[in-house]
Amino acid sequence: MKYIGAHVSAAGGVENAPLRAHQIGATAFALFTKNQRQWVAKPLSPQSINDFKAACQRYGYNAKQILPHDSYLINLGHPHLDQRQKSLDAFIDELQRCEQLGIGLLNFHPGSHLREVSETRCMDFIAESINFALAQTTDVCAVLENTAGQGSNLGYQHEQLAYIIDKVEDKTRIGVCFDTCHAYAAGYDLKNDYDGVMHDFETVVGFNYLKGMHINDSKAKLGQKLDRHHSLGEGEIGWDFFKKLMQDPRIDEIPMTLETINPDIWAHEIQTLKTFAGQT
Ligand SMILES: [Zn+2]
Ligand SMILES: [Zn+2]
Repeated sequence: MKYIGAHVSAAGGVENAPLRAHQIGATAFALFTKNQRQWVAKPLSPQSINDFKAACQRYGYNAKQILPHDSYLINLGHPHLDQRQKSLDAFIDELQRCEQLGIGLLNFHPGSHLREVSETRCMDFIAESINFALAQTTDVCAVLENTAGQGSNLGYQHEQLAYIIDKVEDKTRIGVCFDTCHAYAAGYDLKNDYDGVMHDFETVVGFNYLKGMHINDSKAKLGQKLDRHHSLGEGEIGWDFFKKLMQDPRIDEIPMTLETINPDIWAHEIQTLKTFAGQT
């Protein structure tokens, strides 16, 4: 079973997200559990938490179908200790919000070295931050997202994801979210070499760590290292790849969410993906 959806708005409260997902025919969804551009947010109210859980039950979303995204401000690999600590505190808060909402996953970008430390040192900081955060919480899985390699963002190579995973102590609470746009922009040729890229992922990272996917076409060209999403079939990757992906039996039972640029056609994109997967 493929769980297919989109990153829906949580405007007005997280409890509104499940209905928005339901309205576009989604069987999975992503959301921000707080404003993604602010450091501090009000705690979730008990009412909000109850309403979110009730809405998930009403529309049939279980913990395996929801993949929240953390704040864009967080950098667990920040070269400066005080800034890294600030990020870590915010990350722990995000994990705790997920726990309160009964969500088992939290998707985040690994981190950036800001050209002040080496890639390896930055990845060591990231792993250390993850270990610390996991120790402060009980059951949410930290899900590293591959990046386009824009600026000094790490996680643009499968080897980098594997390096971080290797240093995380609790292997049951670390995973990967594979963003198709990011992978393509980072130089993985999903359009012409589906099997090769997937084989590399399996060999270097392993499908057992794949906890979610972001389904996006790319405005950026192969290897251009720019994070520019596009609607499915309108970018450089094209529909053929998404069709193969929906028919790949290795990728099942994980949230696969659109972050494409035109929410008005999400329902259509989801329906097309479901058709490819044989789930009409
Ligand atoms: Zn992301
Ligand atoms: Zn993404």
